[in-house]
Amino acid sequence: MGMSIRDAPISDILLTMTNKIIKLPEEVINQIAAGEVVENPASIVKELIENSLDAGSTQIEIEIAAGGQQLIRIEDDGCGMGPEDALLCLQRHATSKIQTADDLQSLTTMGFRGEALAAIASVSCFELKTSDGTGTRIVADGGTVQTVEPCARNRGTTIEVRSLFYNIPARKKFQKSQLANTSQVTRVVESLALAHPTVSFSLTVNGRTSFAYQATTQKERIEEILGEYEHEVEAPLLVGYFASPAKAMANRTGQYVFINRRPIFSPLIARAVKEGFATRIAEHAYPPFVLFLEVAPDAVDVNVHPQKKEVRFRDEGAIFRRVQEAVLSAFTAPVTFAQPVVFTPPFSFQESFEESPRSSLSPLAEWTNRTIYQTEREPELIQKELPVVFQERALAVFGSFLLVQKEHLLVVDLKAAHARVLFDDLAHEKEASQSLLWPLEIPLLMGEESLENDLHAMGIECRILHRTLVVDALPKTLDAADFPAFLANWKEGKKRDVAAVRFCRSLKKNFSIDQAFALWKQVQACSDIHYDPLGNPIWKQVVEEDLAKLLK
Ligand code: ADP
Ligand code: MG
Repeated sequence: MGMSIRDAPISDILLTMTNKIIKLPEEVINQIAAGEVVENPASIVKELIENSLDAGSTQIEIEIAAGGQQLIRIEDDGCGMGPEDALLCLQRHATSKIQTADDLQSLTTMGFRGEALAAIASVSCFELKTSDGTGTRIVADGGTVQTVEPCARNRGTTIEVRSLFYNIPARKKFQKSQLANTSQVTRVVESLALAHPTVSFSLTVNGRTSFAYQATTQKERIEEILGEYEHEVEAPLLVGYFASPAKAMANRTGQYVFINRRPIFSPLIARAVKEGFATRIAEHAYPPFVLFLEVAPDAVDVNVHPQKKEVRFRDEGAIFRRVQEAVLSAFTAPVTFAQPVVFTPPFSFQESFEESPRSSLSPLAEWTNRTIYQTEREPELIQKELPVVFQERALAVFGSFLLVQKEHLLVVDLKAAHARVLFDDLAHEKEASQSLLWPLEIPLLMGEESLENDLHAMGIECRILHRTLVVDALPKTLDAADFPAFLANWKEGKKRDVAAVRFCRSLKKNFSIDQAFALWKQVQACSDIHYDPLGNPIWKQVVEEDLAKLLK
């Protein structure tokens, strides 16, 4: 095959330039376009899977070898193509998905440019087998069709791309390692599988199956790919699944954003999510999540990026707020418990219905006002009708853990609870301060005089006198005796969240049951009752398996 102009020596190009203007041959145009649409194996896999999805497939099998450079093979059971379309689809701007420019405003398919197949075929040895009832096989090398013949195939399409970039040595040289390509391809397949749970997907790498996902529900597909998530939110035009902040990672690989089921990369949305996590998470921690946004086709421009990876929103502020609020609400939503604890009354009750006066009280109040007496008759039947009045109470303290009975049995990590309360306290200037009877005096090192303002901002009243920090008032949750330890923690990174957590973890504190319970009550009035400021859970519900594990 001929070289692309990118590979031509400069002298050839200069020579060409002195000649008359010519119209470039079709294959050259395709190769140039291929630079944008198909820059690597992952982008090819993405285009081909999107085509399979657009074709209504329910099962898509993907295979790659040597990171995709040697082989990319996609097989689907979609609508397939008849012989004429099979030939046409390899031509640039051949698409069945839009007909007029107006259609661009209301795209519902993933493809629309009609560029991918032409581009992919122009830079590889390409084979297409497709059938809409009539099977056709087409072979092309570097974009030139070599063979067109009938073939036997069930309805659907198989595309094989071999020797990728063989005719563009410069591009081939700049390809990443096999390993890097394989992981990019895997990410693409996983993203599309996340967005299309009702389609089964399998990926084979170098002859070995890396995964096979059967058609299932959205939630199960997410758990299959990413593991368990703890929080879920459904708002208008938005569905999100978030892992607990404690599962945060050092980079964004666990984060998936979809606009109208199309995987996208969006720093804007990633930032909105981060802000939604607010003080539940450290600064450089990235919690795994899957976020699906629905946006009216005319409120988003997917046309800005040839690979349709980046999008532009008409109203960025609105999208930002929508996401941020939704994430926030995922954490403030009422806690739902996995499995209710059944409280059996110590003895059976029967209500005396005849005697109870009909009143305007709520059924619960009415019930508690009624006379109750013990009986031996029909206990099951009566128990079912009894409303259970839950009363929260502390059961026991074990070191830094508190057992509480709420509607359920909970274990509270008192250190995490303390850190949350302290952190929230430090967020308010002055108001929360309590004056000390005797001012605390802490010697300062050279250059530490500037600490004063930072401490003020945390509601710590202090002055500096002769290189000594004199503290007059502290937030309620910070004991004067512990303050030097807190200060030492804080000075290390000057981060409120890190300091609060480290400090509380380092305290050797013996909580009495009353203190512990009071702390738990305080937590419930905090900005977040689930997590400490670094995302560690504050409490967990005790379930049957936990107890079983204890006794094994
Ligand atoms: P686009 O997806 O933007 O239309 P492509 O170059 O990716 O452009 O595909 C060109 C056309 O080939 C599509 O519009 C579609 O009609 C057809 N096609 C491609 N892949 C498949 C497939 N797997 N099953 C059925 N038809 C397909
Ligand atoms: Mg396409």
